[in-house]
Amino acid sequence: MNTITTPIAPGLWLIDLNFLGNPRIIGAWLLYDGKEAALVETGPASGLDTLIRGIAEAGVPLNALKHLIVTHIHLDHSGAVGQLMRQLPEATAYVHPRGAPHLIDPSRLLQSASRLYGSLLETLWGETLPVPSERVVVLQDQDSVEAAGRRLVAHNTPGHAIHHHAYFVPDTGELFAGDIAGVRMPGYAYVRPPTPPPELDIEVWQQSIATLRQLDLKSLYLTHFGAYQDVEFHLNDLESRLLNWGELVREKLDAGAEEAEVIESLHQQAQSEMEALGIDPAEYDVAASYQMVAMGYIRYWRRKREKG
Ligand SMILES: [Zn+2]
Repeated sequence: MNTITTPIAPGLWLIDLNFLGNPRIIGAWLLYDGKEAALVETGPASGLDTLIRGIAEAGVPLNALKHLIVTHIHLDHSGAVGQLMRQLPEATAYVHPRGAPHLIDPSRLLQSASRLYGSLLETLWGETLPVPSERVVVLQDQDSVEAAGRRLVAHNTPGHAIHHHAYFVPDTGELFAGDIAGVRMPGYAYVRPPTPPPELDIEVWQQSIATLRQLDLKSLYLTHFGAYQDVEFHLNDLESRLLNWGELVREKLDAGAEEAEVIESLHQQAQSEMEALGIDPAEYDVAASYQMVAMGYIRYWRRKREKG
């Protein structure tokens, strides 16, 4: 059986949830200090069995798991929280104030996800269960959690979603970045901005990147996917592509392009960027598809135009 759990730092493992059979797409970060364990991200409910196998592989007893910390409430990050809570009566979930209502009652989240994914919803994301409200702790900006030997400080980092925290560990310079630091695959110097509808906001995202630059960052831990130490390069590459792709979409829309044409031009742009670097795009395309990226930008620019 393949190993899905990789040690990253003392008391920290990355579990590859092997999303729909694809490695290196969605990760969950497992923390353990010998007494209690925590997860940053749980992945989707469809990855629950793999997640539990990964925790065992790290030698961590499941019932040591006391803290489920999520960066935001997109299903690929937090969809398994409800199911896990049923198995872990002592665990607590931690979330952004604007994400908490959807963790407690995921019905609206699931409605909008089913508009996007249709009949594939359950196949992709599994059964997303509600989380009892008394077991949810809302973290405000700069609030911290002591969990499994690390102190994690929540940083409000909207742009990808309005309900997004990144978690910084001041003692080690580690950042659990969620989606605000983009999508990058191990071995490649290339960062793709995941820009889904409906909350993408380019300027706000830039402000969040500026927030991250003010922290003394040594390691970026991405949910999609892995650990990176070249922080300055990484954030610069993310920011420039976030802006460049945004301009590309805006020009296309100004020229009267339809959605399909926008998707095609993003695809061609990415293909040529990645070919120049010798990158196989398949993993990037699963983690942040052109359709999703295009739809987010299109909605962003239309909303901006409506505002004048
Ligand atoms: Zn997301």
